[in-house]
Amino acid sequence: MHEIKHYLNGEHVAGTSGRFADVFNPATGDVIAKVPLASASEMDQAVKFAGAAQPAWAAMNPQRRARVMMKMVDLLHRDMDKLAEALSKEHGKTLPDAKGDVIRGLEVVEYCIGAPQLLKGEYTDGAGPGIDMYSMKQPLGVTAGVTPFNFPAMIPMWMFAPALAAGNAFILKPSERNPTVPIMLAELFEEAGLPKGVLQVVNGDKEAVDAIIQHPVIQSIGFVGSTPIAEYIYGNGCAAGKRVQAFGGAKNHAIIMPDADMDQVVDALIGAGYGAAGERCMAISVAVPVGEDTADRLIAALAPRVESLKIGPYTSEDDVDFGPVITPEAKRKILGLVDSGVEQGAELVVDGRNFSLQGYENGNFVGACLFDNVTTDMDIYKTEIFGPVLSTVRAKTYEEAVGMTMDHEYGNGTAIFTRDGDTARDFASRINVGMVGVNVPIPVPLAYHTFGGWKKSAFGDLNQHGPDAFKFYTRTKTVTSRWPSGTKEGADFSIPTMG
Ligand code: NAD
Repeated sequence: MHEIKHYLNGEHVAGTSGRFADVFNPATGDVIAKVPLASASEMDQAVKFAGAAQPAWAAMNPQRRARVMMKMVDLLHRDMDKLAEALSKEHGKTLPDAKGDVIRGLEVVEYCIGAPQLLKGEYTDGAGPGIDMYSMKQPLGVTAGVTPFNFPAMIPMWMFAPALAAGNAFILKPSERNPTVPIMLAELFEEAGLPKGVLQVVNGDKEAVDAIIQHPVIQSIGFVGSTPIAEYIYGNGCAAGKRVQAFGGAKNHAIIMPDADMDQVVDALIGAGYGAAGERCMAISVAVPVGEDTADRLIAALAPRVESLKIGPYTSEDDVDFGPVITPEAKRKILGLVDSGVEQGAELVVDGRNFSLQGYENGNFVGACLFDNVTTDMDIYKTEIFGPVLSTVRAKTYEEAVGMTMDHEYGNGTAIFTRDGDTARDFASRINVGMVGVNVPIPVPLAYHTFGGWKKSAFGDLNQHGPDAFKFYTRTKTVTSRWPSGTKEGADFSIPTMG
């Protein structure tokens, strides 16, 4: 069986901890590889390589670092098919969706070509007599990131592209479910001109993550994954003196107003609710039609579309809408929650629980499910299901729809469908959610804006990509200088002011 390695200092290095995890093809259930789970000493080795490589990389002028980003963009386009194939094999998502995963990461690499501009400091000429004041943005040093299974190309690139462009070294601990693509990305970066040791991939589980948290040389941790782990890494990382940004789970509501274009709504909910089998942190998992008539029209239009969704492996000859979920445990969790919804009194309008695909009986396929008459006290409403399940909660009024979205513990994304500008504007202004769509179901901001949720969906002050990423991966230093330095004013014991 294929043994995946760590990627340390430009070499593929076998794991030495003796611990491994199986990597599966989620469509067939076959074990396709084993991945080593690093010990603290393997992490320490990576940190030593990173520490040795980082100063020369940081000393390279930003325009030359930007050229590495430019070249990386070309290489990502060149290897797009190869990357998508490897990604789909370990994740299960369709090939077009896998390419989207790579492209949304590539767009952040493109943004980082602007590093020379983004890293410019500020200057005040003549802040006082003979005094100038300037600030500079300097890299943190050795930085690290921990990423989830659901975007194995995009999220690593969201972290390491700005980290590297800013002059840091970066150690990635990718999801142990699909480690192949992150290693391919690190190889491509070196082909693009990145010096060895500046970007490394250390595979592992909690032990490797704890080694990152505790390592005194690592300056920052970027995390994306479930909320309990985000809270763990944020709390412990901050306590260890590191700069941490940690992004967690979601339960994204779509509010459907009575005046919404129902055809557009149904298309939007089908894509955003069931694409990637619902395994997206920006998936719409709750539909909130306002008024009984809106709800009846929505369910009547949505149910046949959900029933006719095509589910299959990424290798299928036919067009497939979505693939399997990641693991048998994820499948069990999703089916258990659907059962609980039925037991707690929700109406399962489309029941995908018994879906099976001939020839893929051991795959983790879950049929699309649609619930109506869900209430906010039910587990299927409160919990992030992370599967192809859309829950409909009927609201009597706009205020009730807004209130339930506001009261939910998660605040990653939300959307409103309406033709009324006043309502849309009020919603965007009042809602306590980080990313808002107006007639747009998955409002993932583009690379030059920033991405991040509110409430239990994100911990830390700065968002991912956009200008925030360059703030996260740099420190500001402000210099006050006086020339000529020989001015004699005598000692002054009061605090300096310019008054
Ligand atoms: P996960 O939390 O299980 O794992 C994420 C990472 O944390 C992995 O690298 C894993 O190895 C590591 N990890 C797991 N358990 C750990 C522990 N006990 N201690 C330390 N590290 C641990 O998440 P997942 O299942 O890979 O991904 C799905 C989750 O990610 C969903 O909740 C989804 O909403 C969330 N997500 C959020 C965003 C966002 O931007 N907010 C984006 C994508 C995914």
